Amino acid sequence: MIATLQEFLVQSLASLIIAAKGLVWPALFFLLLGLAVKRRRLAGDIRRALREASLNLQLMAFNLVFVVPLIAMAGQALANFSAAHGLVLVPASAWDRMHPAAVIFAAVFIGDFTAYWRHRLEHTRLLWPAHAVHHSDTQMTWTAIERFHPINRCSTFFIDASVLILMGLPPFAVVANYLVRHYYGSFIHADLPWTYGPLGRIFVSPAMHRWHHSADERAFDKNFATVFSVFDRAFGTHYVPGPHEGRLGVHDPIAPTLTSQLTYALTPRAYRRTPPEINREGSETEASRAVPAE
Ligand SMILES: [Zn+2]
Ligand SMILES: [Zn+2]
Repeated sequence: MIATLQEFLVQSLASLIIAAKGLVWPALFFLLLGLAVKRRRLAGDIRRALREASLNLQLMAFNLVFVVPLIAMAGQALANFSAAHGLVLVPASAWDRMHPAAVIFAAVFIGDFTAYWRHRLEHTRLLWPAHAVHHSDTQMTWTAIERFHPINRCSTFFIDASVLILMGLPPFAVVANYLVRHYYGSFIHADLPWTYGPLGRIFVSPAMHRWHHSADERAFDKNFATVFSVFDRAFGTHYVPGPHEGRLGVHDPIAPTLTSQLTYALTPRAYRRTPPEINREGSETEASRAVPAE
């Protein structure tokens, strides 16, 4: 018992140190990019975003200490279970015959397809209260990729990992999929007006994902993909009228404190509120409009 607790604490601390170090280069990259794109506006934008960004990092630290070690153990158990019961659709030999770059592309494509449908599930009544935390950032920056409720972290992991394990993808492709989705995920959360022009028909742009976080009801339940916009186009959820300039956030008020963000999904009232897609059609629409986006 004590050995397990020790292992848990050591893993938590190690994850925290690795994550803190991992923030240095992205911070520098986005600072320089912000300077090139925004010039004098950058200082004011950083000042406005500081509170939300600090909350994002607090959630990141909480997840790293309390959730990631559990997920790591569960991941191993899931892989062992799959191996023991032969729950693999594609044999390893099929991936071995392919070029490593093609295997990585397949992993990211399958990963994004899975994440598209998982993300749609997170916008339904049961999972929305936890996912609303990710949407509650009103000054979205690249750090919003870390703003996830522990329940959301777990649903993401179990659904995405189950599919990747089921597909029998080799470990290097699974890791590559994680890295691509994590860093590209940071990039599309950055405050950049880019729509990518014609390339936006294939890839998710920062403007496209900003619309996903919009408080504008026309953008509710749109733009679920992270890397390939082709999924949103194929399933009728693509919405990018141009760069997003309006308000961001959710209609349900969630105070910008760590405690409020963590407890919101644990309160029965959060489940009585309707997710955005139901708000749009349901009787609560007018009432929801009366509540300013947080
Ligand atoms: Zn969402
Ligand atoms: Zn997002």
